[in-house]
Amino acid sequence: MKKKKLLIIGAGLSGLYTAFLLQDRYDVTVLEARERTGGRILNMYGHDMGPSWVWRHQTYILQLIDSLGLEYFEQYIYGDALYDAPEGVQRFSVPPSAPSYRVKGGMTKIINALEEKMHNSVKINEKVISLIEKERSVMVKTEHDTYEVDKVISTLPPRLAVETIKYDPPLEMAVREQLTNIPTWMGYSAKCVIEFEEAFWREEGLSGFGISHVGPLAEIHDASTGERAALFGFLHSNASYESIKENITVQLTRLYGDKASKPLNIYVVDWKKEIYTSTTLDSQPLADHPSYGFDVKHFNGKLIFSGTESAFKEGGYLEGAANATRNVIKHV
Ligand SMILES: Cc1cc2nc3c(=O)[nH]c(=O)nc-3n(C[C@H](O)[C@H](O)[C@H](O)COP(=O)(O)OP(=O)(O)OC[C@H]3O[C@@H](n4cnc5c(N)ncnc54)[C@H](O)[C@@H]3O)c2cc1C
Repeated sequence: MKKKKLLIIGAGLSGLYTAFLLQDRYDVTVLEARERTGGRILNMYGHDMGPSWVWRHQTYILQLIDSLGLEYFEQYIYGDALYDAPEGVQRFSVPPSAPSYRVKGGMTKIINALEEKMHNSVKINEKVISLIEKERSVMVKTEHDTYEVDKVISTLPPRLAVETIKYDPPLEMAVREQLTNIPTWMGYSAKCVIEFEEAFWREEGLSGFGISHVGPLAEIHDASTGERAALFGFLHSNASYESIKENITVQLTRLYGDKASKPLNIYVVDWKKEIYTSTTLDSQPLADHPSYGFDVKHFNGKLIFSGTESAFKEGGYLEGAANATRNVIKHV
C-alpha cells in the first residue's frame, strides 16, 4: 500500500527525530530553511555553540544518545569557582549538585547519527512560507517549490511559526496569541567559546565555572574537548558587541591571570540574530525557565505544532525535543 505523505518543517532535533521514528510508516520529507541541519544544535570548530548539556534524569534524550551508539562524559566541575564583582574577584567552592553530561564529539553527533539512519528525506535551503488547507491534503509552499502532503508537523519555535508562515485558513486569534506568548528557549542568548593552548585553570584548582556582574561574560564554564582546551560563556544581556573579543580577553585575564591573556581563538554566536531561531520578541533575557507545553492542531488536525517548546516536561531542553517527538508520533 502507498504510504501517506508527511511533511516536517524544521530539521532540528525535534524534526529529525520525528522523521526518523515515522519514516517506516510515512513517506517523509523534512524541509529546513537554513543551509545546515541541527537548528539550535550547532558546532563551530569542534565546539558546541548551542546546547552543551544533558542531565541524568532526562531519560528520553539519554536513551536516544545510547541508541545511536554515542558516548557522553561528565562536565568538568572539579575545583573552585570565581565570582567577578565590581569590588574584585572572589574564589568560592560550589556545593555538589547533579552533574551534567556532554556528548563526546559535540551535540551535532546526535544530528549526524540521526541523518545517517534516514532515507535521504531532508531538504536544506527550503524555507516554508505558507500552508494552505485542501479538502484532504495540505499545500506547503517554500521559496522555491510546492508540496502536496497528507499531514504536516511544524517543529519551529512557536513565535517563528506564527510570525514567518502564512496559514490559509488563518490561525484563530486565540491560537496566534497563545503561540506568540511562548518564548523561544535561549533565543535571547549569545554564546562565546574561548580556546586556549592549555586548561591552565584546572592546574590552579579552578573548575572554570564563574559568575560575573561585570561582564561581558555573565556565566563561564569549562568547555574543553578532547582536542582543545576551552572555556565558554554567555554574554550579559547588556554587553556591547564593540571590541567584544578584546573585552572578553580583559575579563578572563582579570579572573584567571596572565595565561588567559592569549586565547587562540574566540567564537561568538548571537542567537538573537538567528532569524530561523528567534524573533524580535526574544531579544530580552527571561527571568525564569518558562512553563512550556501546548497541544495545538490546525487544518482539522492535518497540521500539528510540535518542537521542544510544546513539551509539557523539560520543554525548552533537548529532552523537551525528545519528549515532544515521542508525543507527536502518537497523534499523526
Ligand atoms: C545557546 C544555547 C544553549 C543551550 N543549552 C542547552 C543545554 O545545555 N541543554 C539543553 O537540553 N538544551 C539547551 N538548549 C536548547 C536546545 O538547543 C533546544 O531544546 C533544541 O535544540 C530544540 O530543538 P527543536 O528541534 O525543537 O528546535 P530547533 O532546533 O529550533 O529547530 C527548528 C528548526 O526549524 C528551522 N526553521 C525555522 N524556520 C523555518 C522555516 N520557515 N522553514 C523551514 N525550516 C525552518 C530552523 O532552522 C531549525 O533547524 C540551548 C540552546 C541554545 C541556543
